[in-house]
Amino acid sequence: MARRKKIIFFTGAGISQESGIDTFRDSGGIWEQHTIEQVATATAMYENTETVLEFFNDRRLALGNTLPNKAHELIAKLEEDFDVEVITQNVDDLHERAGSSNVTHLHGELTKVCSMKNHKISHDIGYNTIRMGELASDGEQLRPDVVLFGEDVPKLEVAQTKMWDADIIVVVGTSLSVYPAANLVGYGKNSAKYYFINPEKTGETLMYSYPHLSKAKFILKKATAGMEELYSKLVDKE
Ligand code: NAD
Repeated sequence: MARRKKIIFFTGAGISQESGIDTFRDSGGIWEQHTIEQVATATAMYENTETVLEFFNDRRLALGNTLPNKAHELIAKLEEDFDVEVITQNVDDLHERAGSSNVTHLHGELTKVCSMKNHKISHDIGYNTIRMGELASDGEQLRPDVVLFGEDVPKLEVAQTKMWDADIIVVVGTSLSVYPAANLVGYGKNSAKYYFINPEKTGETLMYSYPHLSKAKFILKKATAGMEELYSKLVDKE
């Protein structure tokens, strides 16, 4: 039996925008209400722990009332025809809830918490909140198990290897401005097919470093409409 083609979806905040989750950088997005320095850096985690916990508590509570959209669902449905992997920068769980089986969260998961001192001491908390004084099993304060600016990205190497293996790479809803994650897009094979789904053209800076990306096809639409277009292209023609 012929090997099924491998598709990697590399997703960002834009794929969850139509589910009602704000992106970071668009107008009306999260950074218009909070600064990165206040809530999303390693320094803030240690100096303003309570503020950071509250910020992520709000996001976790809201996530419990949010549903995957058609874009998440079509990615999961493609598993009927392809070997599909999702590498997401998102901390929401909408890919999993849409039915995707292979999801790598580069920047952690909102529904998990870990010890301030040891990220390997981690557990699920669903859509519940955490407060100051709630401790991990090592006696340290619990914190969201997400990767903040200034912290390592432990899944980066695994994600690089997966990218190298893909026949088709689809980049959905990311500004490609958060590094080192953005560089992953360039790790695909020269022979891979690339699609970018985003109402705005992104990735032009990356193309200087990874010239093979210049053959990418752009679907300049929101994620749901863009995924509908891509789905019929892939399932009818690939
Ligand atoms: P970003 O905010 O920098 O960029 C969002 C991108 O999505 C933009 O390029 C924008 O044009 C595009 N976009 C907006 N609406 C869209 C739609 N309906 N369909 C398709 N594209 C749309 O987000 P990013 O590139 O993911 O990087 C920022 C960081 O934000 C990531 O590391 C991620 O961890 C974090 N983040 C995650 C969530 C989430 O989990 N849902 C939400 C906000 C931010």
